[in-house]
Amino acid sequence: DLDYAERIARFLGADLKPQVVHAVDRVDLKIMPGEVVGLVGESGCGKSTLGRVLAGIMPQSDGAVFWNGRDRRELPPKEARAARLSAQMIFQDPMSSLNPRKRVIDIVGEAPVAHGIVPRREKADYVAGLMERVGLDPNYRERFPHQFSGGQRQRIGIARALAVKPRFIVCDESVAALDVSIQAQIINLFMELKRDLGLTYLFISHDIGVVKHISDRVAIMYLGRIVESAPAEAFFERPNHPYTVALLDEVPSIANRRRIFSPIKGEIPSPLAPPGGCHFHPRCPHAFDRCRREAPPLREIAPGHISACHLNEARTPGERRETAAAS
Ligand code: SF4
Ligand code: MG
Repeated sequence: DLDYAERIARFLGADLKPQVVHAVDRVDLKIMPGEVVGLVGESGCGKSTLGRVLAGIMPQSDGAVFWNGRDRRELPPKEARAARLSAQMIFQDPMSSLNPRKRVIDIVGEAPVAHGIVPRREKADYVAGLMERVGLDPNYRERFPHQFSGGQRQRIGIARALAVKPRFIVCDESVAALDVSIQAQIINLFMELKRDLGLTYLFISHDIGVVKHISDRVAIMYLGRIVESAPAEAFFERPNHPYTVALLDEVPSIANRRRIFSPIKGEIPSPLAPPGGCHFHPRCPHAFDRCRREAPPLREIAPGHISACHLNEARTPGERRETAAAS
């Protein structure tokens, strides 16, 4: 329903055009409970769209989101509502995602009251508890967003997300707008909350340094497709996809956490008309004929390590066995 998507996009300040853009296409991403999955890609690759779909604030045009092993669109209304509450999102800019005319007590406390998570008469105490949990002074609960610093406003956004007792949180560039020292504090808060509340995160970022620091697993997205996903260690030590290799090459060897990769050589093609075959072929140093004709499927190249590149052909365990049996 494009109208709905557009309204949501406008509400989010997103620049969704009235064309049907396949921003997210053939995504294949599994997120296990308790995991932090870092989702990395250049701007416009569809990572925010994927995050919004997973957080349930934007409908998918096709494909399916499985929640506890079940297609989310097929859940009965009550379970669908619970699934929606279980997935929350924290945005990049807390100033534009918090209603400037509302006090913290309402920003944080409205949804849990509306959903019957907490009785109205306990709202003030409930909000005070959440404010303490995220490192804010509960005495400030009658204040408005503009009376807080950027880092404090992000803490309000986190308290609001936590208020409905989520299990899964999508962080979309949630620390990108903050100063380095504040970034570190907010990341530490995310990690504390994960440990104490058993949360699962999809951490969307274009800052590979931040992603490396917090992720159990990393996924790379290019023009609407996941092209590689692996446990963090394998990802950084044995990157497979030529796009990943190019991205990691651009992270300078000096540990400069603030470095944000610039687009690798060649323009990013328009997501409106992505190149056929492997979307990466116009920029890939290893491209061959088949890359222009055929989209490479995601293959498991090592346990939990998937990559979509024709160079990996016949390298999945099953195919190796087949090749061996045939020869
Ligand atoms: Fe490069 Fe071809 Fe692999 Fe795509 S499939 S990443 S173009 S080698
Ligand atoms: Mg984005």
